[in-house]
Amino acid sequence: MINYDLARKDMINNQLKKKGIVDKNTLSAFEKIHRHLFVGENDKGHSYDDSALSIGYGQTISQPYIVALMTQLLKPNRNDVILEIGTGSGFQAAILSTMCKFVISIERIPELAAFAKKNISETGSDNVQIFVGDGSLGWKANAPYDGIMVTAGSEVLPQVLLAQLKPGGRMIIPLGSEDSHKLTLIKKEEDGYITEEMTDCHFVPLIGRKHNA
Ligand code: SAM
Repeated sequence: MINYDLARKDMINNQLKKKGIVDKNTLSAFEKIHRHLFVGENDKGHSYDDSALSIGYGQTISQPYIVALMTQLLKPNRNDVILEIGTGSGFQAAILSTMCKFVISIERIPELAAFAKKNISETGSDNVQIFVGDGSLGWKANAPYDGIMVTAGSEVLPQVLLAQLKPGGRMIIPLGSEDSHKLTLIKKEEDGYITEEMTDCHFVPLIGRKHNA
């Protein structure tokens, strides 16, 4: 019998904190949202490991540290509406839901969108809405957003996403080639934006029209 509470505490202390996650809201979200609810039956025993795990359809739930780092860099506030591209298992959306007003998450694979909805409903979160679609085009209906998080790797910065971000808003996106990405923080200003490369990472690709003009 796996002691998930113990495994989760160990993940927070020996992975997240040791690797530099200091934001209290991020750490508290990882206590509230149980990662073992977001993986398949055969992977439950590895759900608090320091690694990404397969969720089927060639896709993954990201490494806990990367989820925490992206959350800490996005800095969601209580009244924010956040757009996530790449729902996958729903874990990242559930983490964000504990810190902001509303999360809209877009997934291109219908079966994963259904998997994520089921997983999130088990956490009791009621402020996440998941849509099936091409998230590289953003989600215009609820734009502009206070923050945007892209959880798949893109060769280009989709300008359409930037256009859906409020001035003062932050976007976090893995940018680069298929083999290696740079986790990139974008801060939108009134008259442009600034980018900061944070760390190397590896993501499954963002598949879509990726409007970059
Ligand atoms: N955030 C997820 C989680 O917490 O489990 C992990 C995301 S996984 C690394 C990347 C996801 O992005 C996959 O589920 C994939 O199907 C999705 N994806 C790739 N391109 C997409 C697109 N254009 N629009 C929406 N989702 C996309």
